Amino acid sequence: MTNANTNNVLRSIPAMDELLNTPWATQFSGSLGRETVKNIITDVLDGIRNEIRKGTPIKAPLNELAVLHATSLLGKRMLSTLKPVINATGVVIHTNLGRAPLAAEAIRAVHAISGAYSTLEYSLEEGGRGGRNDHVEWILCHITGAEAALVVNNNAAAVLLALSVTAAGREVIVSCGELVEIGDSFRIPEILAFSRAKMTAVGCTNATRISDYRNAITENTAVLLKVHPSNYRIAGFVKSTPREELAELAASRALVFMEDLGSGLLCHVEAPFTNQEQSVRDCLKAGSRIVTFSGDKLLGGPQIGVIAGSKQLIDKMKHHQLLRALRVDKMTLAAFEATLRLYLCGRQTEIPVIGMIESDKSALLKKARNLCRILKRAVATVKATDFTIAVVETCDAVGGGSYPTDILPGFGVAISLRSTSAETLATGLRTAPIPVIPGIGDGNVILHVRTLLSGDDQLIAASFTEVVNRLYAMHPPESS
Ligand SMILES: *Cc1c(COP(=O)(O)O)cnc(C)c1O
Repeated sequence: MTNANTNNVLRSIPAMDELLNTPWATQFSGSLGRETVKNIITDVLDGIRNEIRKGTPIKAPLNELAVLHATSLLGKRMLSTLKPVINATGVVIHTNLGRAPLAAEAIRAVHAISGAYSTLEYSLEEGGRGGRNDHVEWILCHITGAEAALVVNNNAAAVLLALSVTAAGREVIVSCGELVEIGDSFRIPEILAFSRAKMTAVGCTNATRISDYRNAITENTAVLLKVHPSNYRIAGFVKSTPREELAELAASRALVFMEDLGSGLLCHVEAPFTNQEQSVRDCLKAGSRIVTFSGDKLLGGPQIGVIAGSKQLIDKMKHHQLLRALRVDKMTLAAFEATLRLYLCGRQTEIPVIGMIESDKSALLKKARNLCRILKRAVATVKATDFTIAVVETCDAVGGGSYPTDILPGFGVAISLRSTSAETLATGLRTAPIPVIPGIGDGNVILHVRTLLSGDDQLIAASFTEVVNRLYAMHPPESS
């Protein structure tokens, strides 16, 4: 394009004020605000100008092109990107999908506390300052047998604060087999470095003996640290040191024995493999002075980190400057307290994560048959004929870096469409107005029923119908 031509084309781009006053633009300014709409359109027009200057051939009339691009961008910005989805993956604690969905009681508590003033840090008797930790400390102590407990933003923060208090400027001894990385951002060596502790890794990847710890102790050692190998298992010849031996060694040398439990099983859960797991109470009884764990993994509450154990050490943590940066918000505390109270009165099966893990096969089969029936009815109403929909057995998982090698046998509904790949169907479901996140296996989309919440069936049917209509609009089914 010659310069004169380019200039002509550039001049034909519609003026901003003209665009902003069209009914097309005003439909967006109601929820985005006129300034935002203007900024987004400016970006789109700048983009088009740049393409023209680069000499990219532009086929459509420029005003149409501008409106097309802007509509798509504005449409995206109209909807919030953080929104509920249906978890049909069968992975109960799915970190990307927000880990634990809250129990009804916890949701009610958040609702009550978030829209009002509260006693977050206020004592009604004294008419003055109270402690935000007090709301949950006594319950945690009661359930776990700990002398004291402190909650922070998440378990990574719990480990950071606990080590900062017990080991800053001193040595922490940890087994080579336990240098865990969780979700590519939590790494034991790095957390130790952040808390200004010096790491002494002992033993081998698959075997660490009590003598390895004993031989590594110097006068500068402060902590023996045990870390739960949450998201991996070492198979074959494996030897790790029992916590009782570590506790005894630590006590005899005036060191702190601390354990990062990760998932934090508060109580017994009726799933076969959870018997291998020690609860927080067991660990403290076996001699751990400090135990840290997450609130939103097996515990089934909101994102929170708990430090439980020795009153003397936890008192120091309560007065550490770092706590101010790691403290828990009121909505989280409300949800956490309500979740803990369900454990207190033995109603923990009402916690969705616990209920999902405990679900037995007959209950899951019933759920799968029901979903299958609903989906078949949905395709019948849109006259779709080339679908195969059937109940299948599935391999579900606890997830969240818990029990990485254990499979929870479950049921689901497999869907295949003759003319479309499973990936296309899955993308359709994920991008439906109510997003459904399915599994994929053997060329089918698989909806695992273990992780569905009540009411999800009908929502899946609505999204599925929408996807089928969308697919058929592009490729009408062969008439049969
Ligand atoms: C999950 C986990 C963490 C991190 O916990 P967050 O609550 O996600 O911060 C730390 N350590 C272990 C062993 C874990 O399993």
